[in-house]
Amino acid sequence: MTVLCQVRQLSVTYRGQEVPALAGIDLDIHAGERLAIIGESGSGKSTFARALAGLLPAGASVAGSFHWAAGHPPHAGRDIGFVFQDPSASLNPVLTIGEQVAEGARRHLGLSRKAGQAWALAMLERVRVPEPAKVLRGFPHQLSGGQRQRVAIAAALVARPGLLIADEPTSALDMVVQAEIVALLGDLVRDAGMTLVFVTHDIALASGFADRVAIFRDGRLVETGATGAVLAAPEAAYTATLIASHRDLSTPPLIGEAGR
Ligand code: ADP
Ligand code: MG
Repeated sequence: MTVLCQVRQLSVTYRGQEVPALAGIDLDIHAGERLAIIGESGSGKSTFARALAGLLPAGASVAGSFHWAAGHPPHAGRDIGFVFQDPSASLNPVLTIGEQVAEGARRHLGLSRKAGQAWALAMLERVRVPEPAKVLRGFPHQLSGGQRQRVAIAAALVARPGLLIADEPTSALDMVVQAEIVALLGDLVRDAGMTLVFVTHDIALASGFADRVAIFRDGRLVETGATGAVLAAPEAAYTATLIASHRDLSTPPLIGEAGR
């Protein structure tokens, strides 16, 4: 298996904070895998996702290294697509959907205005937005949360990145829409042969489609391994607690078919 990125001894401390948000993370991202980053709120998941994409705020102090197989750091937006929890974070409220998806196509792929519009329409079809031609002419506020997230995914994928990072992309959505979006992401990464880093606090959700899991707690990597192996026989007591807390809540089966 090819390693897309080796993360070594990554530590991040935000300006004005005494406690690091991440401390000494060693983690490999494998090319073509679906990796779930799992942890409770505040465990450093988003910090890891942003650090990987080169999207940390100015003033965050970073130690450690990223060794990319490509030999150079990827370009966020072109080589890496990023989907946020709140699609409003990536969509501009005053531009039509068509303008903003096409703008990415023009900027990153060098398409003409007309070709950019056609590409945007094709992207909306790929993320299964109903009535894509109509959505293209509309604004983000005219869409439901789930449709907005589909559009944000289209915008993230517009330049055909090799790596998609999704940071809790479904936590703001209701259960049914959540399952649809997870299935959509699974299909998209499979069809395009993309690598997926999926951040979630929900171990049950992750276990349905991730090949590998990485469990974060208080800025540290607690354990990592193949999803089935970690769930069946967690090495860390903390992981066992996370799994048990879900069984207690009688959530859906931990190993499911979602997204496959
Ligand atoms: P998670 O995504 O797992 O909830 P985060 O990576 O967002 O965790 O946060 C990890 C820690 O870093 C938390 O203690 C959080 O309060 C802190 N943190 C996150 N973003 C910032 C920021 N921009 N400035 C200061 N502290 C931050
Ligand atoms: Mg977060």
